[in-house]
Amino acid sequence: MFGKTNMFYYGLAYVKTVTFMKEDACWIRDQVKQHTRWFEQSLPMIASENLMSPLAKEMMISDFHDRYAEGMPGKRYYQGNIYVDKVELKCLELARKIFDAGFVDVRPISGTVANIAVLFALTEPGDKIATPELASGAHISTAPFGAVGLRGLNPVHYPWDYKNWNLDIDATRKFLRKEKPKVAQFGLSVFLFPTPIKELEDALQDAGCMVWYDAAHVLGLIAGKKFQDPLREGVDIISGSTHKTFPGPNHGILVGNDLSDEVEAKLRKAAFPGVTSSHHLHAMAALAVTMAEYEIYGKKYASQVIKNAKALGSALYEMGIDVMCPHLGFTESHTLAISVANHGGGAQVAQDLERANIIVNKNMLPGDTSSVKPSGIRLGTQELTRLGMEKGEMEEVARLIYRVVVKKEDPEVVKKDVWELKKEFTKVRYCLNEGEEAYQYHELV
Ligand SMILES: *Cc1c(COP(=O)(O)O)cnc(C)c1O
Repeated sequence: MFGKTNMFYYGLAYVKTVTFMKEDACWIRDQVKQHTRWFEQSLPMIASENLMSPLAKEMMISDFHDRYAEGMPGKRYYQGNIYVDKVELKCLELARKIFDAGFVDVRPISGTVANIAVLFALTEPGDKIATPELASGAHISTAPFGAVGLRGLNPVHYPWDYKNWNLDIDATRKFLRKEKPKVAQFGLSVFLFPTPIKELEDALQDAGCMVWYDAAHVLGLIAGKKFQDPLREGVDIISGSTHKTFPGPNHGILVGNDLSDEVEAKLRKAAFPGVTSSHHLHAMAALAVTMAEYEIYGKKYASQVIKNAKALGSALYEMGIDVMCPHLGFTESHTLAISVANHGGGAQVAQDLERANIIVNKNMLPGDTSSVKPSGIRLGTQELTRLGMEKGEMEEVARLIYRVVVKKEDPEVVKKDVWELKKEFTKVRYCLNEGEEAYQYHELV
């Protein structure tokens, strides 16, 4: 079939393709390396991100990644899960302890996937669900164009107290009694203050609804016992991401208490085979490691995250920056919401800060109508805290932000000082570190 010439061309094309592919692979790796170097030199302050511990990261590139496990430990559909089962049982045990919960499922592979599992377990298309509105800081998964819409639900929104960045309690009591939603969902992506769920107890009971708390942002603060304790305040089921204030892998979790057998079965079925097949075993192992570490360091970490957010908020406020809710101490979480309407708007300010290697996101504030050109930015202290930063550093961070946002200094100049500060904070804290406790067990066996 191949004449001499054909063979020659075929061979050349092959060589060319291989070279091309190889160049692509190397180029991609190089981009990732450049990204990593960039973030080492930056102040990452996106409120939904965090850093994993070295030991948890090691799990992510283990052989667990290459395997499948379907179903629950001890009842798998595949062989080869002896160690996977042991690790998952430990993960469940640690989660039950940390959250003081009877029901845990660690199979949803992200917060959104956990939310979809809850929606499928607790609702039918056409049901009414009460949620905060996007403009109040809610997440897209509860928006009509997100998972709530996908499930065909009819969302109604809580009356909001914009000044206090929280529910209007009295109006919400009336609203719940009137609307009688099938599910009352709480939780935000700009989560400054605990949700007053206890205060709504009677109204929630009168409405006869299931109470669902989306803890994606604040899971680490809850696990560190520093924010609120939803399961003791009337919440039936918590969903969450395990990579925001909880400094684990990109993954999801479901946690509940006193659920009926029927609801538990529905949640399990929704988690698998509903929204997952295999549940990213490497991430599950990394989650287990993070939980073991969090048992030791979690309270200290969560407490420092919040202290830092408050310190950063007041430092910025004293420099004349319009941090939301000064009358409430700015925040009780890792997050700050800031109006930069007088400094060019959220989109421009976020871009300028990025040029100075301070990474934040633009964010809608109450009254905004455009998500593309909002008046605010959102900052989180969870990652800088994870690197060991405290109050003194928060004041320095505030000054760097001030120079870009208010003084309009050249970001390229500020960038150098960002690196000067960041240079001293290269190691993940509040975890077991290589050469220290982490490997002692391994050395013993
Ligand atoms: C981030 C977030 C989620 C979803 O998170 P992923 O893990 O990225 O899917 C869900 N709900 C809220 C409130 C969030 O902020």
